[in-house]
Amino acid sequence: MAYDDQNIFAKILRGEIPCNKVYEDEYALAFHDIAPQAPVHVLVIPKGSYVSMADFSATGSPDEIAGYFRAIGIVARQLGLDEPGYRLIANHGRDAHQEVPHLHFHIFGGRSMKGMVP
Ligand code: IMP
Repeated sequence: MAYDDQNIFAKILRGEIPCNKVYEDEYALAFHDIAPQAPVHVLVIPKGSYVSMADFSATGSPDEIAGYFRAIGIVARQLGLDEPGYRLIANHGRDAHQEVPHLHFHIFGGRSMKGMVP
């Protein structure tokens, strides 16, 4: 799938739409989900124009990939989630019901995830 630079996360990255930011560095931006499904629900997106893990893993540079995954860990730690833990989810494509075509990992925390898929 070609990247659509009019998707909402692209607009957030360009500053055209506001977000409730929790972290930003050279490789990633993290902000609170607008419709949280857990006490803590934060999205972490890469700064590059990638639809999902498919193109990110295929064409992202080693620095972008390392920087992005490092940022996810930094954000979770910054949110105080290392203990008791958190759940990471990235939806890819139609079957996963990916709504926004810019790669994002969801960080869910603040409650037990036992028996539930957020
Ligand atoms: P997906 O189904 O994995 O693509 O999840 C997209 C997520 O983006 C959903 O959890 C939405 O609530 C969230 N979302 C959509 N628009 C915004 C926004 O403008 N700010 C923050 N989160 C958003």
